Amino acid sequence: MARIASIGECMGELSETGAPGTLGMGFAGDTLNTAYYLRRSLGPDWQIDYVSAVGTDGLSDRMVEFINAEGIGTDHIRRLADKTIGLYYITLKDGERSFTYWRNDSAARQLASDPAALIRALDGADVAYWSGITLGILANQDRIALIEALRQFAGRGGTVVFDPNLRPRLWENAEIMRGWIHRAAAISDLCLPSFDDEATWFGDSDPAATVKRYVAEGARRVIVKNGAGDVTYQGGDGVIGTLSIPKAERVVDTTSAGDSFNAGYLAAELRGASTPDAITAGALLASRVIGARGALVADAATGG
Ligand code: ADP
Repeated sequence: MARIASIGECMGELSETGAPGTLGMGFAGDTLNTAYYLRRSLGPDWQIDYVSAVGTDGLSDRMVEFINAEGIGTDHIRRLADKTIGLYYITLKDGERSFTYWRNDSAARQLASDPAALIRALDGADVAYWSGITLGILANQDRIALIEALRQFAGRGGTVVFDPNLRPRLWENAEIMRGWIHRAAAISDLCLPSFDDEATWFGDSDPAATVKRYVAEGARRVIVKNGAGDVTYQGGDGVIGTLSIPKAERVVDTTSAGDSFNAGYLAAELRGASTPDAITAGALLASRVIGARGALVADAATGG
């Protein structure tokens, strides 16, 4: 059995149901979204584990039950007695979504505070998936511990896959964010950035500049997503290519576009697809996800 460990924070998602005085509750978060689509894209010969930390309260129990019910392993979700999960609330105004977060003291911020638990979570895994959000929420010494655990994992032959997912609000400042993102990319085999964020925070003039920057930092392969635009990539052969992606039939809600693209890409690659074919698989999955509301679209992935 092959195994993927996805590392990060899942949160409770509160949203209006339409019924006065009633909020709906779901669970989502970038690395959990990718784990969800990996689970639905890969067959039973793959174990997908979520690596995180939650509390011991009822809300945390509900989250762990949800993840379990999706067929994602929860053995490496640590339980911390004095913490609980982070929450966010979505408001929709004139078609624009805005988010309010309560996550500053979430249990997931401690997900790397026990290095021995991290090593156990990665032990025997084939792929580790993480993001700039995973790193951003941690204290400095835990950022170091997580990078070190992943560096050792890569040294043992594990594949480290990283989405920079730049969220300056999670970081002390943009300069500090840029420094850690480059350290993270340096130990990653495959880096999956989104061009609009990279242009904003690193000043890249075009997607090829994003590819070159991450390769210069040490990433072996880079795939740059760009909304409806071409995907620019550098595979293991060191050559930069571009690929146009199929047009989405309809765009309802782009939440989790990048997360689902990453899952579709990675699942195809793990099944032996070439880089261009894996990009097309990622784009097809993302186009189905953005055609429906919410981060987790149950019938978007049909592989496995
Ligand atoms: P993120 O969600 O991380 O900001 P992007 O907006 O670049 O990432 O989108 C990720 C992927 O989702 C793209 O590579 C593409 O495959 C798909 N996608 C996003 N927006 C569209 C769109 N308007 N039409 C078709 N595909 C899209």
